Amino acid sequence: MTAPRFNRILLKLSGEVLMGQGQFGIDPATCERVALEVKEAIETGLQVCMVVGGGNIFRGLAGAAQGFDRASADYMGMLATVMNALAMQNAMEKIGVQTRVQSAIPMASVCEPYIRRRAERHMEKGRVVIFAAGTGLPFFTTDTTAALRAAEMNCDALFKGTSVDGIYDADPKKVPTAKRYDSLSYDRVLADNLKVMDASAVALCRDNNIPIVVFNIRDEGNLSAVLCGEGASTIVQN
Ligand code: UDP
Repeated sequence: MTAPRFNRILLKLSGEVLMGQGQFGIDPATCERVALEVKEAIETGLQVCMVVGGGNIFRGLAGAAQGFDRASADYMGMLATVMNALAMQNAMEKIGVQTRVQSAIPMASVCEPYIRRRAERHMEKGRVVIFAAGTGLPFFTTDTTAALRAAEMNCDALFKGTSVDGIYDADPKKVPTAKRYDSLSYDRVLADNLKVMDASAVALCRDNNIPIVVFNIRDEGNLSAVLCGEGASTIVQN
């Protein structure tokens, strides 16, 4: 495997990725596959931290639509991300990758609380830090959390795994002639309302000059390839 093009990155995994082919919950085989690919990347010297979503279990907006109070529903969503973080921790530790889960909502019996400087130290020691419970605040998303943590941890890039291999000028699942962009500016993504990450996440990355690499995480082998600068992706930068 070639040397990575970045030194330290944040990987955003949506809850949906962890469902694998299922419709709900956590697919252990998918967690193991993702873990293995992260392992391959860190063996090249790349420092990795992760933010995991919770959409495979509970989303605040969906809960609110069913009648839950929005803030309570968002806390439920944040708790769902802790389950996913523990699942990923498990998958990684099984194959010998040292990890730490840090939660923005302190839960001392389950994992560490989020402490920025401690998280940095873990990464310097080669541990993968998994950030759970989003920002700890309702009305936010784990995309915004990813941008925030990437800035706090001085990451060189934010990698966003999706089910397509980048950003297209039309929906590639509907328009066969759709073209993938190799690179795009933050402002273009915001102005054209391209659905990459939510606007606050994109703006946070823009203001802190953190490139966003959008790639397909569902294809086996693609995560480790893209982390090492190979494979198809779109990079959003200035
Ligand atoms: N959430 C929140 N504050 C945060 C991050 C997440 O309230 O800082 C809640 C929100 O309800 C969200 C849920 O946690 O719907 C799961 O996160 P998200 O939808 O971002 O997960 P993903 O789509 O990445 O699976």
